[in-house]
Amino acid sequence: MRIVLATHNAHKVTELRAILGPLLGEHELVSLGDVPGGDGPEPVEDGLSYAENALIKARAAAATTGLAAIADDSGIEVEHLDGAPGIHSARYAGTRDDADNRDLLLARMTGVAERRATFQCAAAFANPGDGRGGRAREVVQLGSWGGTLLERATGEGGFGYDPVFRPEGETRSAAELSPAEKNAVSHRARAFTALWTRIGPELDASA
Ligand code: IMP
Repeated sequence: MRIVLATHNAHKVTELRAILGPLLGEHELVSLGDVPGGDGPEPVEDGLSYAENALIKARAAAATTGLAAIADDSGIEVEHLDGAPGIHSARYAGTRDDADNRDLLLARMTGVAERRATFQCAAAFANPGDGRGGRAREVVQLGSWGGTLLERATGEGGFGYDPVFRPEGETRSAAELSPAEKNAVSHRARAFTALWTRIGPELDASA
């Protein structure tokens, strides 16, 4: 089956291909830009949770392409800030700029000793069905990755808040992990591995 990856974020595309690649078997992951209908406007993410927003993105891609679609919605939650920036992580500083978002978060946490933080990810699958009795299906699965907010950005890898996040049990920031190390344990890896455990067998059976 062809499954369209409903994200325009190049970093996420790279990570999701690495995470899902070994699980896919005969199924093929295609990018939005490579399928008819995939170049439409991005849907408005006005959900109140990661799960709602991930489903909005997966449904929109499935509706415009006619293919089964997967999407994620993710963010970082800082305990001292009552879970902010949370679902607003991508636009926390009012721009979509990763460095602006990190700088604002570090500024709001200046002098704060309690620095626990958690990455959250919702992985969504939406299959519009084939119009001939093929089953329409929606599934969402959550994953998280706990750690600590650093005092300054460290490391060149990853994206977003990776340089200011030190995963639990690590001495390095997430931006200092290799892609393989991050993709073995991240919130995105956990959510998508769990998602595939649920949908993989039924997709294999219907192939
Ligand atoms: P989304 O595209 O609306 O899901 O935005 C998610 C935002 O959360 C991104 O723009 C990043 O700022 C942040 N984020 C999500 N996952 C990660 C990650 O794995 N590393 C660093 N930042 C992340």
